[in-house]
Amino acid sequence: MVMKTCLQRHAPVVPKIAEGVMMLKKRGSGHESFDRMLKPVQYFLDRIYMSRVGMMILSGAHVRNFDSSHASTNENYSSIDVKCNIVNVIKEAADNAKFLCEQYYETSPDVNIITGSPDFQFPYIPSHLYHIMFELLKNSMRAVVEQHQGGPLPAIKVILTHGTEDLTIKLSDEGGGISRSDIGQIFTYLYTTAEAPMEEEDLTSQDMKNAPLAGFGYGLPISRLYARYMGGELKIVSMEGYGTDAFVYLLASADKAEEVLPEFTRREMKQYTITGSMSDWLLPPEKLVDKKGAD
Ligand code: ATP
Ligand code: MG
Repeated sequence: MVMKTCLQRHAPVVPKIAEGVMMLKKRGSGHESFDRMLKPVQYFLDRIYMSRVGMMILSGAHVRNFDSSHASTNENYSSIDVKCNIVNVIKEAADNAKFLCEQYYETSPDVNIITGSPDFQFPYIPSHLYHIMFELLKNSMRAVVEQHQGGPLPAIKVILTHGTEDLTIKLSDEGGGISRSDIGQIFTYLYTTAEAPMEEEDLTSQDMKNAPLAGFGYGLPISRLYARYMGGELKIVSMEGYGTDAFVYLLASADKAEEVLPEFTRREMKQYTITGSMSDWLLPPEKLVDKKGAD
């Protein structure tokens, strides 16, 4: 029960921090010291959010095992589903992204899911996959509607394949793409081309009807952390003037999919104080061992 209350209390942590980061951006932009802070802020947020993903899994498992009242509620705590139906998760994300898009633009593009096996099941954490797909679809829908204002909207294509190493989901839109000078920034927490949500908006709202379609700059960096948590990856490739392809890679073999978590040693401390460089704890374990040996 205590753990359940704790989980509920911590549910708005991400939008709350996002609000803080937006204030920092508003007040700091233009100052020389602000630019120096950007890399350490990115490094810090990547670490704190990745730790949070791991903690949510542990606490969710605790609630499911010890809280009998959980069985009668609809609360969806993160956990591995050995028979996760990938297509159903993508469909749910598409329906909810469409709902939000229609709230904002009164229209939305269709989503075509292309796969040889619609009932394909795969051991994965459904809430993580849902989060990734929901964020990617919201981005694509916004881009498509903005790019084709007033005209027919080209559908977003989602292709799903299952290889020996990876399960790959490719999402392609015709939303005009991203310029090469901007693409390096899309995974940073401070980058967005959407208008910031109004100050009076409740950013911590869990209610779909009040959620913004875009505006925090958090969709892509957090989705990439979710993909990387179990050894996967998220990549974005753009063709400016035409559209964007997003590739989600999930490790196909369950025994290779291991949790990637940040550690904190003197080496990490240096990241803040001296180099301010990016998250090298996201390197594969063997490379981290090499690096430590070299230190
Ligand atoms: P939110 O945190 O609410 O998702 P956001 O959508 O602005 O806000 P991200 O999802 O991280 O944040 O995306 C960052 C930026 O990358 C977007 O503002 C947009 O400019 C660009 N972007 C992302 N996906 C696409 C896409 N499919 N087509 C065009 N631009 C895109
Ligand atoms: Mg987004």
